[in-house]
Amino acid sequence: MRNRTLFDSRGNPVHVPPPSPNYGVPGMGEREWRLNRARASIHNVSAGLLPRAVAATLFGLFAAVLMYFEGVKHLGLQDVFGSAALAALIGVAAWYGMFRLSYRPPTWGTIGSDLAHCQLCIVCGYDLASIRDGDDGCIVCPECGGAWRLAEVQGRPVDPRPGET
Ligand SMILES: [Zn+2]
Repeated sequence: MRNRTLFDSRGNPVHVPPPSPNYGVPGMGEREWRLNRARASIHNVSAGLLPRAVAATLFGLFAAVLMYFEGVKHLGLQDVFGSAALAALIGVAAWYGMFRLSYRPPTWGTIGSDLAHCQLCIVCGYDLASIRDGDDGCIVCPECGGAWRLAEVQGRPVDPRPGET
C-alpha cells in the first residue's frame, strides 16, 4: 500500500503511511494501536496486512473446499479435475473479494480521538506528547512539519477497544 495524501490542520499536504502489517495482531501497545487505527481509517482498511491476508486465505480455502465438494456432487468422480479447477477459481475470487472488502469507512471523529489520545504524529509516528500548541492551536511535528489541531477533538468520547467494553 502506498502513502495516502491528506491535508493537515494548516492545509498543507502530508503523506500518511498505511497501518503496520501487524496491526490487528494482539500484543500491540495502546498508543501504537491507536496510531495504527487512525492510519487504517485514512487508508480505508480494517487492519494491517497480516490479519487481512489470514482472513482472506481462510475464507478463500473455505469457499474452495465447498465448491470442490459441490463440483464432485454434480460432475461425479470421473471429472475431479473439473471440480478442482472450479474450486480454484472460486477460491481465488473469494480470497480477492475478502481481501479487498476488509474495508472500514473513515470517520474523523475516531481518527481525531485516536490521535488526541495516542499523541503520536500520524505521518511519521513522532511522540508529540511534550510539544506545546502553537499560536493557531496547532501542534507542529518537529520531525515532518505536519501541523495538527488536536484540542478540538480531545473532548470527544473515545471508542472502546474491541473486546474491552
Ligand atoms: Zn510527524
